[in-house]
Amino acid sequence: MTDWQELEKKYYMRTFERVPVTLVKGQGARVWDDNGREYLDFFAGLAVDSLGHCHPVMVKALTEQAKTLTQVTNLYYSIPQLQLAQILVENSCLDTVFFANSGTEANEGAVKLARRYGSLHRKDAYEVITTFNSFHGRTLAMTAATGQPKFQKPYLPMPAGFVNVESNSIDAIKKATTDNTCAVMLELVQAESGVYPSAEDYLKQVRQWCDEKDLLLILDEVQTGIGRIGALFGYQVYGIEPDIMTLAKGMGSGVPIGAFLAKQKASVFVPGDHGSTFGGNPLVCAVGYTVVKYIIDNDIAGNARRVGQYLMTRLQELKQKYPLITDVRGRGLLVAIEFTKEVGARMLAACLERGLLVNKVKPNAIRLVPPLIIGKAEVDEAINILDSALTAVSCET
Ligand SMILES: *Cc1c(COP(=O)(O)O)cnc(C)c1O
Repeated sequence: MTDWQELEKKYYMRTFERVPVTLVKGQGARVWDDNGREYLDFFAGLAVDSLGHCHPVMVKALTEQAKTLTQVTNLYYSIPQLQLAQILVENSCLDTVFFANSGTEANEGAVKLARRYGSLHRKDAYEVITTFNSFHGRTLAMTAATGQPKFQKPYLPMPAGFVNVESNSIDAIKKATTDNTCAVMLELVQAESGVYPSAEDYLKQVRQWCDEKDLLLILDEVQTGIGRIGALFGYQVYGIEPDIMTLAKGMGSGVPIGAFLAKQKASVFVPGDHGSTFGGNPLVCAVGYTVVKYIIDNDIAGNARRVGQYLMTRLQELKQKYPLITDVRGRGLLVAIEFTKEVGARMLAACLERGLLVNKVKPNAIRLVPPLIIGKAEVDEAINILDSALTAVSCET
């Protein structure tokens, strides 16, 4: 039998700290490794497999479109792209859309759009205010936007035009605003840095400040969008509207697709301003359209809200039981458990041994981002495994 982990060591760049499992198959909220072992998947391809693995509706859209038309470029009209554009716009507060291939690329496009707006309406203003502990992606510009020195340091100098400020502080944003500022870009829940939900009054204050100063508010909903935190779009949970919103992860339930949407006033691109070879191609858009339509028609966001509440209640019980847990937090099905000690890796391993996939989001915290279609039974199963893993890890430490 091939040793895939040895092969990786030899041929793949060493950028990932991988969990020592080779996954070969998935169905719903379950995956299997190359030894035939089954796992309950509470990572879902990093919050991507919104309908779970290989959902029949998704598989049908993918295979039928693969047999029909996959790529024609944006020099022509194509139908799935326009169907997906229509369903996103008609169900959100935004007016127009552009499709990219990833979250990072969607954010890049959003920032370009904000700079275009700045050049037209704010005397060439180009600077974007972002927060510490945010995550906006891995290109050079999005590394500069991401307010985490550990990601920036190996790649200095950073592209200009980003100012990182303290998060959850309206004063920090006010202080950083200058004549050069064109936008503020935020995550509703800082997901990659450890699942930190924004304060509601803060977001309302940011919205107000942006209105006052004619700055664009960009919400990076790459992780929170498409049902993840209990509404189709996360901004609906927080009761504020962005001028520009980015999406990616959950939108294709496994196919790579990103998007940025804008309100009319911010839709300032003209032909030639931006582009993409693959972006918005019929293959990924047919899947995206089918996934988004399924999520809307079946109120999957409502399921995420209800099951998320149940998960939170059960996690609070574990917190009562284990002094090792200092905090459980999150929104909908984007949740983290934080520990008194750096036992994230130990917890991940203990869960893995017991058949549950979780994510170590910080040295002292794990993240749960299951498929949005799970029910209480899967939560109970995960809680039983977490309970047993917590007993084991609590004994060791
Ligand atoms: C994952 C993520 C990104 C980056 O998306 P990629 O598809 O990996 O490029 C950007 N912003 C947020 C909030 C994310 O969670």
